[in-house]
Amino acid sequence: MTNNMFFIANWKMFGDFKSVNSIKMVIKLSKDKKYKKAKIVYCPPYTLIDKFLKITNKSKIKIGAQNCHHSQNSGPFTGSVNVDLIKSIGAKYVIIGHSENRVSGDTNHIINLKIKSALKKKLKIIFCIGETLKEKKNNKTNLVLKSQIIRGLKNVKKNNNIIFAYEPVWSIGTGVVPKNNDLKIQIYTIKKMISKLWRLKNPKIIYGGSVNPKNINELRKISSINGFLIGGASQKAKNFIDIIKKTIN
Ligand code: PEP
Repeated sequence: MTNNMFFIANWKMFGDFKSVNSIKMVIKLSKDKKYKKAKIVYCPPYTLIDKFLKITNKSKIKIGAQNCHHSQNSGPFTGSVNVDLIKSIGAKYVIIGHSENRVSGDTNHIINLKIKSALKKKLKIIFCIGETLKEKKNNKTNLVLKSQIIRGLKNVKKNNNIIFAYEPVWSIGTGVVPKNNDLKIQIYTIKKMISKLWRLKNPKIIYGGSVNPKNINELRKISSINGFLIGGASQKAKNFIDIIKKTIN
């Protein structure tokens, strides 16, 4: 392994004030030279971002939000948080297009607006794409991914602040991961789609979907993957550390 690897923790709607202390073990690991290639990002619920920022402030760990509202300007959007608010608190990343938000109304058009507003604020974006089980069974995977990429990035110029996260919806939270060879081919195909759109030689792609300390030994063999987006297994520091250690050894 020669390049940096992303380990992005998506805590979803889990965690409380006390549980943040559990990441002290991860902070310790992030300071160990042996793991300097690990780019660790925590995306907690909005309410814990400030606490995460404070606890990680003397480390290289970065903090991100799990979503944002598409409007750059403040406005009458009850319950929403935009990129301005995310940036002003000190977070550096934002997840956009997560399938759990696509099902609750994030269309490719809205995702496109979110991406543009995050880029204006110079936030780093974790742009999630992925097909459902039904789409996979109907051989629509590449069609769906292409449309998510092209529509999500409409009028967006080549940009290094976007990390693509391939997350097959059927793999999120299910314990099922694609076979290594299938995943390798899929990553190659996605890289080709992005390269064609942006003339980028080697876009950054991470994989997400049921990554855990058991399957990481297999997944890490795919050298074209630039890291992992980790949901369930990131909520326990021990599991998250295990994943990092097994990837970078
Ligand atoms: C996710 O929500 O982005 C995710 C990958 O979840 P899990 O690891 O729990 O499948």
